[in-house]
Amino acid sequence: MSRIAYVNGTYQPHSGATVHIEDRGFQFADGVYEVWSVFDGKLADFEGHMTRLARSLTELRIPIPMTAQALERVLKETIRRNRVRNGIVYLQVTRGTSPRDHAFPQDTPPSVIVTSKTIDLAKGEALAAKGAAGVTMPDIRWGRCDIKTVGLLPNVLAKQAAREKGAYECLMVDEMGLVTEGSSTNAWIVDEDGKLRTRDTQANILRGITRTAILKLAEAEGIELDERPFSVDEAKRAREVFVTAASSFVMPIVSLDGAKIADGKPGPVATRLREVYLEQARREAI
Ligand code: PMP
Repeated sequence: MSRIAYVNGTYQPHSGATVHIEDRGFQFADGVYEVWSVFDGKLADFEGHMTRLARSLTELRIPIPMTAQALERVLKETIRRNRVRNGIVYLQVTRGTSPRDHAFPQDTPPSVIVTSKTIDLAKGEALAAKGAAGVTMPDIRWGRCDIKTVGLLPNVLAKQAAREKGAYECLMVDEMGLVTEGSSTNAWIVDEDGKLRTRDTQANILRGITRTAILKLAEAEGIELDERPFSVDEAKRAREVFVTAASSFVMPIVSLDGAKIADGKPGPVATRLREVYLEQARREAI
């Protein structure tokens, strides 16, 4: 029997069911999900999962895609079409499909996907009778910001916070008050002593390719570098603040949380590094 998936209003063969390549679930992990177990074709703990779903969606400010009654109908219809007596039903809701941009899209309906599958309850019973093995590993959720993963939900929320405050970028701050990096950029300052500062990459940040290029260019320009973290206060007192990324090159940041950086104008170091970076990038592009 072929499986069926519900995708954005239609029931489709599971084998060919697709969401758009610009779905934010795929691009940013910008979505939530729920799983119900199914006994005799019926949903277990329906309300409990619906309550958590509503909370997850509300926390992420993803619009509730349909009423609880409509969703119940879709879940049950998916279970029915898959002839699941005992098994599981999955629901994924993402912030929908929109041209790639970290910040939330406007007027984009959420994507809704429902799948269901049969589970052999006897297997679980046999294992439960014997008992199951466990292992341990450090809880790293999500302590691997050095990996350029599509799991970008925290970055999405940071960029959205910037947008809502009329800002270009959000600098993210660790529990010690030190800037880690921007939501989609590496962060730099020219500190009060005139030293170029950026956090070292032993730390939990993305090793920006632009960052590496800028480090070399700064050296060639004879700019003194101090590769260590800086606090928000240090950034606010800095001569210059700027961010770097393949998409924005070197972008001077002239205010932070509403406070002017120095005289509120792009500084000479950022301006020079932008110029030499662009010149080199153009020249060396293959
Ligand atoms: N940090 C984060 C979190 C990013 O997403 C990016 C760019 N996508 C960067 C830093 C900058 O990296 P790169 O210079 O390689 O673009």
